[in-house]
Amino acid sequence: MLYNQKRYQELLTELKPYKATLVAVSKTKSVEAIRALREAGQDDFGENYVQELSGKARTLNDDIRWHYIGHLQSNKVKTIVPISHLIHSVHSLKLLKELNKQGEKAGRTVSCLLQAFIASEETKFGMTFDEMDELLHHSEISRLKNISIKGLMGMASNCDDTRKINAEFLSLKNFFEEKKKENMPDTVSFEILSMGMTGDYRIALDQGSTMVRIGSAIFGERKYTS
Ligand SMILES: *Cc1c(COP(=O)(O)O)cnc(C)c1O
Repeated sequence: MLYNQKRYQELLTELKPYKATLVAVSKTKSVEAIRALREAGQDDFGENYVQELSGKARTLNDDIRWHYIGHLQSNKVKTIVPISHLIHSVHSLKLLKELNKQGEKAGRTVSCLLQAFIASEETKFGMTFDEMDELLHHSEISRLKNISIKGLMGMASNCDDTRKINAEFLSLKNFFEEKKKENMPDTVSFEILSMGMTGDYRIALDQGSTMVRIGSAIFGERKYTS
């Protein structure tokens, strides 16, 4: 089975009342699996690894909307900018400047999200609320004409404590709503709140997520070979 058709349809039904976008996370999964889901009408796919993403984008040669959700490094920006529809994992001004530079070169506006650090695990990446606040009000932001900051992404702690996960998503939602009301440069528009994965997307939706990133529920568990 290339993907779980039943689960996929259930997810679409579940997401509908929330009007949330489903990003099918296809990391480690085959191009055949992506193609099959694509044929079922799925437009948005998420990938974590730059090499894998560029390889799949080249092979599939399709108008798939690729979401880059992996850890972002400056030296990889050049490769992902021409391919990505949305980059979820921006965590510094330095990266924004590099995205702007590569966007200029590619003749396009680069849509991205700031990755927030909301979990209590140090292994997770992202910016604190204070850091995001400072970045959003930085004088340079309005000069980065080839980027468009469309919102925020966050990952909750990987645990079974639903109250904790709920509180983490809620804190991000509150920050998102607060910033939405503030006066921001043209390069910032808060429309997207990317939160929720297979294990916690229901909690995320209840806390106002507009975009969920789901892998295992659709494609099955991932097996890492290396
Ligand atoms: C892998 C990954 C997902 C999807 O995880 P599942 O638990 O398989 O749904 C979502 N977001 C990010 C950032 C990921 O790395």
